[in-house]
Amino acid sequence: MSLESRSDDGVPELTARVVRASFPRGTLAVRIREVLGPVFMDEDFAAAFPDRGRPAISPGALALVSVLQYAEGLSDRQAADQVRARMDWKFVLGLELDDPGFDFTVLGDFRSRLIKHGLEERVLEVVLSRLSDAALLRAGGRQRTDSTHVLAAVRTLNRMEFVGETLRAALEVLAATAPDWLGGLISSAWVERYGARVDNYRFPKGENVRREWAEQVGRDGFVLLDAVDEAAARAWLREIPAVRTLRRAWAEQYHRDGEGVRWREGKDLPPARDRLSSPYDTDAHYGNKRGSGWCGYKVHLSETCDPDAPHLITSVETTNATVNDMEVTGTVHERLAGRGLTPREHLVDAGYVTAAHILAAREEHGIDLLGPVAIDAHHSGRDARAPDLSQAAFQTDWDAKKVICPQGAASVSWSQQRKASGTPLVRVHFALADCDACPLRPRCTKAANGKWGRSLTLLPRKQQQILEQRRAEQQTDAWKERYDARAGVEGTISQAVRRTRLRRTAYRGQSKTHLANVLCATAVNITRVDAWLNGTPLGTTRISHLARLALVA
Ligand code: SF4
Repeated sequence: MSLESRSDDGVPELTARVVRASFPRGTLAVRIREVLGPVFMDEDFAAAFPDRGRPAISPGALALVSVLQYAEGLSDRQAADQVRARMDWKFVLGLELDDPGFDFTVLGDFRSRLIKHGLEERVLEVVLSRLSDAALLRAGGRQRTDSTHVLAAVRTLNRMEFVGETLRAALEVLAATAPDWLGGLISSAWVERYGARVDNYRFPKGENVRREWAEQVGRDGFVLLDAVDEAAARAWLREIPAVRTLRRAWAEQYHRDGEGVRWREGKDLPPARDRLSSPYDTDAHYGNKRGSGWCGYKVHLSETCDPDAPHLITSVETTNATVNDMEVTGTVHERLAGRGLTPREHLVDAGYVTAAHILAAREEHGIDLLGPVAIDAHHSGRDARAPDLSQAAFQTDWDAKKVICPQGAASVSWSQQRKASGTPLVRVHFALADCDACPLRPRCTKAANGKWGRSLTLLPRKQQQILEQRRAEQQTDAWKERYDARAGVEGTISQAVRRTRLRRTAYRGQSKTHLANVLCATAVNITRVDAWLNGTPLGTTRISHLARLALVA
């Protein structure tokens, strides 16, 4: 397949005439063509296609079909059928009415090429660039970000199912690629154990029996791995992905010592982000948010939210399910800066914000990162009439390295330390004698029988000042009003979920899932631009009939 330049010769005359007669008010595809032209040019994807070989179907056309496919929630086969059958798709693609289209497998090949050449972001970038050119998108305004879960295209497995399925997956591949070698190794008991899908409901009852079953699986797995290692003439067996997955999974799940094979205890397992969750998608991990668990990924969507322009998705970050939101804040800013779309103000929920993030966003990108920081944990509110003395009640003199407490006592110790994570901080202590004699002590500290009285933990100077300022301002009505706009991003996620099935990937692996997420976002953008140009008002928060009754009352 080679890249053949796609010049914009306009929509063929007959196609245009028939479509305009049939759809006087246009369709999404027709209106997009009229506003943005052909949208994608083949040159936009030149890096993914060699310049010699079999003539290619236009990559620009495939990109456009891929976006329309997500906008309408179609499979590859259905999308290819639309190219053949739909006049408005022929219009947007600039095809003659009798154009035969292409085989649906070409769409999968196109996506694979984008991933292979690191062009997963390209489709979104091109659309954002076209929209900037059309003055529908600009930097310097407000943007907001939130995340949602994405279910992997695999079954969620408990530990016993996981080890059983991991061994079964390796045996399946070996039975197909080296049947003679495997036949000489295993017995009929293996076929009984691993011949069919491993399901929780078929496991023996009773904890000890189930544990023995899991350890039997462990022994079988090690027998297989040892045999693979000893098969010198078949070194390629070790490189089979399912065998490599088995090796990694067994290191995570089992101990093997002189006494045999043992199931690792929960505390002995690697953390979820380093541990396989499925043999069929090794990028997917088990995540948990607010008590709900899922196996798969997380996607973070950022969008513009100025009232005088369409709300457009500007960044899509896909991570595995265990990655915290705050690990993505800096990546989003880098991505937006790289696209020339740095916002002036970025609204996020508490998961994305620390004082360090606010400072970095301000100093590195000039972004005002607007989100609530954690409140002072010391302020526990045990007694509303005499609240605990939070950090806000203390005055810090950074130059003198002293803190003055509400009672007027000065701290007697100031030391620079680091958390286990490497985060620098300052530990400050007050003298035990001062605190013991203080009438405010019940509200200030529970320190007893130690060397010090009240202790404080401060962030580095700039971060601490930001933290205190944000804690104070986020209590004000003015700040809450400014922050109100953040909630709108929930509607964007809802639209992407309903329209493009964002929350359930059809593919295995993070790269493919990310590309699918990018196509979802691009489809939402195309839909929104169309709605904006048509004057379709933004959706509002739905209020139940019952709530409406309560409002009336
Ligand atoms: S308990 Fe100690 S730190 Fe707290 S107000 Fe009294 S003297 Fe100051």
